[in-house]
Amino acid sequence: APRATPARFASPREALREVFGYDAFRGQQEAIIDRVAAGGDAVVLMPTGGGKSLCYQIPSLVREGTGVVVSPLIALMQDQVDALTAVGVRAAFLNSTQDAGQRAAVERAYLGGELDILYVAPERLSSEATKRFLERGRIALFAIDEAHCVSQWGHDFRPDYLALSELADRWPDVPRIALTATATEATHKELTQRLRLEGAEHFVSDFDRPNIQYRIVPKVDVRKQLLDFITVEHPGDAGIVYALSRNSVERTAEFLSARGLTALPYHAGLDAGLRARTQSRFLREEGVIVVATIAFGMGIDKPDVRFVAHVDLPKSVEGYYQETGRAGRDGLPSTAWLAYGLQDVVQQRRMIDDSPGDLAHRRRLTQHLDAMLALCETVQCRRVNLLGYFGQRSTPCGNCDTCLQPPESWDGTVPAQKLLSTVVRLQRERNQRFGAGHLVDILRGKRTPRVDQYGHDRLATWAIGDDLSESQWRGVVRQLIAQELLTPEGEYGVLTITPASASVLSGERRVVLRREPERPERASRSSGR
Ligand code: ADP
Ligand code: ZN
Repeated sequence: APRATPARFASPREALREVFGYDAFRGQQEAIIDRVAAGGDAVVLMPTGGGKSLCYQIPSLVREGTGVVVSPLIALMQDQVDALTAVGVRAAFLNSTQDAGQRAAVERAYLGGELDILYVAPERLSSEATKRFLERGRIALFAIDEAHCVSQWGHDFRPDYLALSELADRWPDVPRIALTATATEATHKELTQRLRLEGAEHFVSDFDRPNIQYRIVPKVDVRKQLLDFITVEHPGDAGIVYALSRNSVERTAEFLSARGLTALPYHAGLDAGLRARTQSRFLREEGVIVVATIAFGMGIDKPDVRFVAHVDLPKSVEGYYQETGRAGRDGLPSTAWLAYGLQDVVQQRRMIDDSPGDLAHRRRLTQHLDAMLALCETVQCRRVNLLGYFGQRSTPCGNCDTCLQPPESWDGTVPAQKLLSTVVRLQRERNQRFGAGHLVDILRGKRTPRVDQYGHDRLATWAIGDDLSESQWRGVVRQLIAQELLTPEGEYGVLTITPASASVLSGERRVVLRREPERPERASRSSGR
């Protein structure tokens, strides 16, 4: 008959000392562990590096039975199991990478009462066979890691997580702990409800990462800007550079390598062996920079990542927070650096327009993007904006770009009216729509073949904006988009007005803009139609 794994330690503190070699719990760890060890449910919101793992590992060791940990990070299960085994914890995993023999050995160990912790991929746990098998042994607790993945509207939804709602009915006596490093108030509510954790105690940590300096700059020549940032501020440091596409990853890694940095590409299109080597070089060598799509970094525990840079706009504030959170887990000063431009906004709107899913889904993606834009264009403290997004109030931090160099704001009502009225005229009178480039040409009175072709030099707004430079105009466009006074649409990012535009045109609403540092004009301009 199956046997239950006996409790290994009498108290959490003993397990902390004996197994993990630490003297004291951090933050809310002890309260969380006490709650779960006593058989209660918990919802834990704790930033990356806060020490979530111990919150389920220690209760697994002090309770009878096996702690079952649901994690989507299949690639990391082997590492996690190895790390636990090294300190004497009997751990194993079940996922799709195993053959039948390996699975059978793990199953025997579980039923024999020889496992303290069992990692299970969510798609395994949604299968009836796996649940029947688990029922034959004794479960100490369920830990649901990356619990935000159950949120259908979140940035990282995984359908397999929905099936986890069943655990409550099937194992009513087994305590459950859900953990995440990223949850807005809405996601927090949603995961509590979907995972049937109504009776849980909630532990919400301080999300601030005071040692991370947040900086967001307008994109001019992004690879050159990135190189300057790294060589001036972080020479020889380990860091992660995030880009949205594989192509952008490859080109950025090549660019940095050609200039003498150790920069390695990492994305899903590269072979698994190479990816594993890159990950281990990043962990073991000094000063390695990994240029990656978002596939890199989840669950990687490297304390001394000194910078995280984004060369493309992240799709959501949650994603941005999670990625930048990989910097400075050791508490030492680190930088989160992001460069973004109008083209990012246009590209992401297009991706949203093209994305599968219903209107409500696209609307949610748009809200994510809008929140990210608001963070980029804020004239207030970045940290206040960021923490506010997670429902946490704070005061200006003194350690972000807007605190260190407060941006001047200026009254942009008149330029906004000039731009919006150009868009309206073209749209209403001629049924034409254009991207930012051409609209700026009209406002600045720049003769181009397209201006001649359409006779746009006869528009009433022709050349009425030559008081601003081209880059200033692009800044105006970007900020009007962030303020939802203009929307870029379609493949070419043609700009259209929004319901809010009318109040600006009528003079009822003033437009406050952020003054940007003057910089060289871009050599080439993205095409507009
Ligand atoms: P998270 O999963 O929240 O990102 P981890 O569980 O990976 O964080 O913990 C981050 C780091 O902090 C790990 O290196 C871990 O060993 C360490 N750590 C966790 N709890 C403590 C503690 N009480 N004392 C010292 N170090 C701790
Ligand atoms: Zn600040």
